[in-house]
Amino acid sequence: MTDYNKQTVSFWFDTLAEQIQPRPALTEDIQADVAIIGAGFTGLWTAYYLNKQQPDLRIAIIESETAGFGASGRNGGWLMGAMAGKTKYLAGLPEAERQAGYQLIFGIIAEVKQVLAAENIDCDLHHGGSVYAAARYPEQLAFQQEELKHLYQAGLSEDDYRWLSKAELDDTVRMRKGMGGIYTPHCAVINPAKLVRGLAQCLERKGVTIYEQSAVTQVGHKQLQTAQGSVRADVIVPATEGFADELMGLKRYVLPIQSLIVATEPLSESQWDEIGLADRPTFSDAGRMATYGQRSADGRIIFGARGGYIYGGKVRHRFALTDPEFREREQILRDLFPSLANVNITHGWGGTLGMARNFTPFAVFDANSGIASAGGYGGEGVGASNLFGRTLADMILQKQTELTAMPWAFSPATHKSALKRWEPEPCRWLTYQTLLNVFSWEEDLYNKGKAPAWQRKAVAAVCDKLALLMA
Ligand SMILES: Cc1cc2nc3c(=O)[nH]c(=O)nc-3n(C[C@H](O)[C@H](O)[C@H](O)COP(=O)(O)OP(=O)(O)OC[C@H]3O[C@@H](n4cnc5c(N)ncnc54)[C@H](O)[C@@H]3O)c2cc1C
Repeated sequence: MTDYNKQTVSFWFDTLAEQIQPRPALTEDIQADVAIIGAGFTGLWTAYYLNKQQPDLRIAIIESETAGFGASGRNGGWLMGAMAGKTKYLAGLPEAERQAGYQLIFGIIAEVKQVLAAENIDCDLHHGGSVYAAARYPEQLAFQQEELKHLYQAGLSEDDYRWLSKAELDDTVRMRKGMGGIYTPHCAVINPAKLVRGLAQCLERKGVTIYEQSAVTQVGHKQLQTAQGSVRADVIVPATEGFADELMGLKRYVLPIQSLIVATEPLSESQWDEIGLADRPTFSDAGRMATYGQRSADGRIIFGARGGYIYGGKVRHRFALTDPEFREREQILRDLFPSLANVNITHGWGGTLGMARNFTPFAVFDANSGIASAGGYGGEGVGASNLFGRTLADMILQKQTELTAMPWAFSPATHKSALKRWEPEPCRWLTYQTLLNVFSWEEDLYNKGKAPAWQRKAVAAVCDKLALLMA
């Protein structure tokens, strides 16, 4: 029996006023128009936009645990008007279409705000932008300035991404050794558990049925099976992202990666004066650990960094603050902000996200088999799942819209070439371990500051190449 103790899921679950009581399980054989597997953001947003366009559609959501138990209730709360691989997807399009694509992506935050207002959902959203990839070493500075040039070459402007000098960076967030970084207005902070739980309740009010503690064990032709029941449906939507296990062979398309987060106790006003973040922008440094932080509504720092990959692509959702991996995150946080040396860490948790082989997320629908799916957000799914839920809803309803014309929407005719499969084990595990080791070697080299210039240059060149391959 899974432990739904709020503290064991995430700090965000701990802030919920509700007691977590799982909804009833699926205990019979039912019929639906659309059956969605997974009550995370992808499944819930897809249901929301299907219901909005066709309120009489019979939608059943089948969740193995409880709504938000996956990455959606555990993440760093960056609601980004962005998505992994956006320039890759849009680069080849004619200018007008390319700009339309960017506007759809940047428009995610406005769309979410509008739904929150319409449906009376409060998730502590604050739109303060993002200082991302702040450089702390000369090599990082050079890489991030190149990155900004690349964004401009890809058709983006200073209104979307701009350089912060050291003084401007310090005005926004004072990181030890901060040298400069990229700022974008296209990011907001949220409490993700409030959003995912609020969306689930909103869907129930609209007549969508959510079954919990009902793991789907098998998906057949227009039919799925759980331990105690089954659903026959014209359309089946696996919305399981990092949990993509053996269900329909999705495992080979989405690599499950762990990410881990710590939360501090609420900081005092004087501590905040030292750190900054007055307008609550999200922040990260340019290290390869892919850090991400936010100032929560109740004045804590929530700070995470990439974790591991378990051999065989296993999912992990049990974490304890005593796990040694949390000390590593704590150490990076205290190194960024030395004034936090004696601050208590009250929560530590983690979750599993999904990485697509070509590092770009996808929305796929095959009208013949009735299978639709979206995912592979690579750690940027909080906002992207809204866009992909909207895209998937239009695809399922077989509407030809601006969204379904976007290059992230695949039909069977195009998806074989777009959706690459990950290599079999042990290649995946070995590659991931090698990447982690090379990246932490680089970090160590910079931190110690004693390596000769040629060595730093060589390591930076290798790591930059690897990072670009994953971008
Ligand atoms: C620690 C962490 C930090 C992150 N930080 C950010 C961030 O700050 N910003 C950002 O944009 N993205 C972030 N992400 C990524 C983002 O959270 C995810 O991309 C997004 O939540 C994916 O939503 P989803 O609905 O597709 O998947 P999930 O939320 O994982 O939902 C999948 C659901 O499917 C259920 N399920 C699985 N198997 C079955 C089955 N067989 N039968 C029935 N149900 C099943 C699971 O229980 C789960 O509830 C982070 C991820 C993690 C793990």
